[in-house]
Amino acid sequence: MTAYISQNAFWGLLISAVEVYKRECFGLLIGYRDRKGPDDMYIVEHAVAYQTAGRRHKGVVSNPRAHRRIERFLRNIPQLSVIGDFHSHTMWGYNRAASHPSDTDLEGMEPEHVYLIVSVNDRLREVPWNYNDDGSLSGTTDDHYFRLTAYTVTPSGEPRRLPILCPYAIGFDARPLRALRAIK
Ligand SMILES: [Zn+2]
Repeated sequence: MTAYISQNAFWGLLISAVEVYKRECFGLLIGYRDRKGPDDMYIVEHAVAYQTAGRRHKGVVSNPRAHRRIERFLRNIPQLSVIGDFHSHTMWGYNRAASHPSDTDLEGMEPEHVYLIVSVNDRLREVPWNYNDDGSLSGTTDDHYFRLTAYTVTPSGEPRRLPILCPYAIGFDARPLRALRAIK
């Protein structure tokens, strides 16, 4: 099983996390499950930040009424549904942001859903965007170091990391793009 992240969702995740850094963001993953191909995939088309999330540094509080409104809205769009959620973990003092779910995170996870943790730290050096051995995706922008990790849970509630597929992010690097523009 794989978590596919579209270009649109990739930017949604990064921008939501940066907007409230060093607080944590929370939002919904919208897309669909593709079981037809050789690999069972969660296709994340959009990552929509919860504007109504009560934010505090450790953990975020979701808003069930807002969640229901969004699910009702999506009922009119047959090809899209809420397939999971995302939130960020941020650095705190000298503690780097964790990429694994907390106990509270695990309590909120349901089987057949995908969950993304966006770990955000201050950038120490430039790192090109790439996949890690554990299936996560990491890289830097001008100010931040990001790591995106996808999880699902088994019916008994055991967390399972899912490899992320995000072709758009790979090789994404602000500097070569700027250089390219300069050549033109
Ligand atoms: Zn968390």
